[in-house]
Amino acid sequence: MPDLPLPAWIALAAVFGLVVGSFLNVVILRLPERMAAAWRQEAHDVLELEGDASPLPPGIVREPSHCPQCKHPLSAADNIPLLGWLLLRGRCRYCKARISIQYPLVELLSAVLSAVVVWKFGPSWPALAGLLLTWTLIALAGIDFRTQLLPDQLTLPLLWMGLLLALLPMFVDAPAAIIGAAIGYLSLWSVYWLFKLLTGKEGMGHGDFKLLAALGAWMGPVSLLPMILISSLIGALVGGSLIALRRHQSQVPMPFGPFIAAAGWVWFIAGPELLHGYMHVTGMQ
Ligand SMILES: [Zn+2]
Repeated sequence: MPDLPLPAWIALAAVFGLVVGSFLNVVILRLPERMAAAWRQEAHDVLELEGDASPLPPGIVREPSHCPQCKHPLSAADNIPLLGWLLLRGRCRYCKARISIQYPLVELLSAVLSAVVVWKFGPSWPALAGLLLTWTLIALAGIDFRTQLLPDQLTLPLLWMGLLLALLPMFVDAPAAIIGAAIGYLSLWSVYWLFKLLTGKEGMGHGDFKLLAALGAWMGPVSLLPMILISSLIGALVGGSLIALRRHQSQVPMPFGPFIAAAGWVWFIAGPELLHGYMHVTGMQ
């Protein structure tokens, strides 16, 4: 590693996070589109329908960025993360259609969280792994928020990565990662079935189990209960205020994935400190 002071590394991480953030925007938008097209094609084959299935959209990266409204390709300047959106004041240069605030928000979030990861771990391999975890969690939260899906294409690699890192070990050792993954999956799985047996409704999706399994692999079984508690707390706060503001109907299911992702990230960065603080406050230590 070149000999730079930590603040320089943190600034580098923020800029790099900004650039990755604009790629995450593309993933959040196009991965679900591709999944839906693949499902249509599969269904078309299974049902032995006549004619051709609708073709798969082009690759996630190959298609150049364009305005979703007028399809005009974006210039390099419009594509600059965060600044492009600010300079255009959130409107398309060509057709003046509003550009979703999702774009600058995801970029900003990615920049800030990337900076925090490098601040916490310094220029190191754990920081690099932490960045991959952070970016995957942002993409998962964004996709679940928009489409109520947590794609296997993201949750499963996150799970494998957590298990493999435990072989080094990096954050937890292999037994903790394996047990964390299994208990992470089974805990939400059993809540799901209990809820379904009692109410006949589906409270959450299978993607939620896989996401918690992945986080359990990264952080071990001790992290699971705090993560579930923190995500329920954030979920209740956000859901409650959305319902109070009448922005969300209480009957419509809310995605749980963004809250699990948020809780997982918080625990990844500050788990030991939070646990220590909690024990200190309650007099257990
Ligand atoms: Zn446009």
